[in-house]
Amino acid sequence: MKTHFHPEPENLSEAIKTVNGYWVEPDTYEFKAQIDAIDGDWIHLTRNFFYPEGGGQLADAGILIMDGNNYEVLDVQNKDESVWLKLNTKLSKKQSMDSSVLAKIDESRRLDLSRNHSSQHLISAAFWEELELDTTRAEVGVNESQVELTRSPSLAEVQSTLEVIAQLITDDLPIGSTFLNKDQVRTMQYRGKIDPGLTTYRMVTIGDYDKNFCGGTHVSSTSKIQDIVINKLEGKKIRFYSGIKAKQYLQQDSIRLMELGRILSASRSKINDSVSDLVDYKKKTIREMIKLKTKIVEYQVSSSEWIDLTNYSYKFVDIEEVDSGVVIGIIGEIETNQVICTRTPSGVFIIRGNVSIIEELMTALKEKGIRGGIGKTKIVAMGRVKANDDIDTIIRQIIE
Ligand SMILES: [Zn+2]
Repeated sequence: MKTHFHPEPENLSEAIKTVNGYWVEPDTYEFKAQIDAIDGDWIHLTRNFFYPEGGGQLADAGILIMDGNNYEVLDVQNKDESVWLKLNTKLSKKQSMDSSVLAKIDESRRLDLSRNHSSQHLISAAFWEELELDTTRAEVGVNESQVELTRSPSLAEVQSTLEVIAQLITDDLPIGSTFLNKDQVRTMQYRGKIDPGLTTYRMVTIGDYDKNFCGGTHVSSTSKIQDIVINKLEGKKIRFYSGIKAKQYLQQDSIRLMELGRILSASRSKINDSVSDLVDYKKKTIREMIKLKTKIVEYQVSSSEWIDLTNYSYKFVDIEEVDSGVVIGIIGEIETNQVICTRTPSGVFIIRGNVSIIEELMTALKEKGIRGGIGKTKIVAMGRVKANDDIDTIIRQIIE
């Protein structure tokens, strides 16, 4: 879809500058235009400064004012190298074609996106320069944004790279863009990949530090980023905030650390040691508790009496909560005419007997709505009962 009012461009570089208003006038947030095409709830304007979703950056939002009415711009997309806006209302072609509109781009959203996009360039550039980690994917959002690297960096690597980034922000390097042709691109060094099919390329530079080909929106210098905080490291993915949101995140984290210090009665520098001591202590305590519980279950199983039923000796034991494997080990070998059932406070039951009685019991229990199954050895059945299921009485009835 070509914008019909433009004269045929002399060269493509000019064409791209003309079409993408947000590149040449990144600070234009308000403009007048006419509607020259309508397609459902999508419209096309004679001039455009809205950024369409692309290159990992979310679309702009805003409003159009026409005949005193406000229309919300819900989405902006590039279709056939032309930018279309999705409105919250379908316009009638008859009434709205060639109408004049006043367009207002949501400035704070654009600034958030531009700042996060510039931060993404800075993060990608620093990880490339410091560690030769390339960026494979980037997502630029209004709040949190993310970069995916070729490998997962260590926390120490993240820390040293963040120090470099902080210096680059302090140095207030200009962030600019130029248009280059294929021959110019071929002879130069840059970060990232290019689409070999283009004739004109838009290069985004951060001082002399980084050159990268990009069609997004950016702030004009690194100090406008204010601050970058990496809030999550998920393998190769780095999630981050920038600007005031980064500062807020750091402040909240600082308060959280103070709270943690109070809970642990530890100074800030001792918090890590204190938590790691606690974790060790917890692991040790759990191991001790399992040992003790195992001893208790051994006693519970061995001290309860066998009851003689018609063909079987039977015992039912309420036991402490331990792993099923532990219980089966404690029960061990039994006589062929013996049946034993254990139940933990959470309702997990284990029945040990011979092959035929186990099958008979499990079939009958299932008929009574009790859930469970038979193990591979066919001499153990396992399941879970509800608090009001009297599994002891049911088993006795079945055996007798
Ligand atoms: Zn960019």
